[in-house]
Amino acid sequence: MKVAIVGAAGRMGGRLIHAVLEADGLELSGATERPGHPQIGTDAGLLAGAGELGVKISADLTAVMATADVLIDFTFPEVTLQNLEICAQQGKMIVSGSTGFSPEQKQQVEKYAEQIPVVLAPNMSVGVNACFKLLKEAANILGDDFDVEIVEMHHNQKKDSPSGTAVRMGEVVADALGRDYNKVANFHREGMCGERTKAEIGMQTVRGGDIVGEHTVYFIGMGERIEISHRAMSRDMFARGAVRACQWLQQKQSGLYDMQDVLGLT
Ligand code: NAD
Repeated sequence: MKVAIVGAAGRMGGRLIHAVLEADGLELSGATERPGHPQIGTDAGLLAGAGELGVKISADLTAVMATADVLIDFTFPEVTLQNLEICAQQGKMIVSGSTGFSPEQKQQVEKYAEQIPVVLAPNMSVGVNACFKLLKEAANILGDDFDVEIVEMHHNQKKDSPSGTAVRMGEVVADALGRDYNKVANFHREGMCGERTKAEIGMQTVRGGDIVGEHTVYFIGMGERIEISHRAMSRDMFARGAVRACQWLQQKQSGLYDMQDVLGLT
């Protein structure tokens, strides 16, 4: 299976190159960066510290996808939508880990997924996807008696807040409790904002240094507290998850899938 990587010079791009090289049955056929990026023309393997591969970083995704079966995309929603258009035109599959989609942008992704197989997941790690399942179970057991608060921490260059993973955690808990995440998520407490409402789910964000990604969901009761935490120590498991999604997607028809589907957790 021939794989192209978009955003090859990014934090995830380098880890994705290594993961594709290590994966069974996958071959890196192309790599791109944004037009004007200083690494255009550089060998993707040399840039990632994986040795020369003979795959030059290009700014022309249309040409790159002509020789690829699947695109791995860890960029940003507006870029991902452009990439989906190119993949749809060529009937190619796409695995995207981009986060920060607005509801309207998500609808656009769903439209493209009617034409091609798409995996879109805010977190590709097995551990976080196991957490989603544990959170549903915890919320079902604890019900409305426990207040739910979510705290996430990321590096100081992250563009979207709260993280896509924290939002998904909030959605999982809200769904299990029969609440609408968009109505109960509380992102801001300041001044005389009043007592905590029973239904709200607090969403707190910490940004600093080089934190890869940490998420804790607190279920806070009277006299006791449960914390479900995930800490990412490196970006490699996100990259390995994306590769696993490519391998899984090979047998799939058009449609929108996430890592719960890939890992058989649905
Ligand atoms: P980054 O800024 O380091 O990398 C993004 C790269 O995309 C950059 O090198 C940038 O130049 C490139 N790019 C931008 N526009 C482009 C274009 N039009 N064509 C080609 N390349 C283009 O960011 P990052 O830390 O690697 O994160 C990227 C995305 O992945 C973010 O949305 C982040 O939240 C998400 N992420 C998801 C997971 C997951 O498991 N789903 C894990 C980590 C990060």
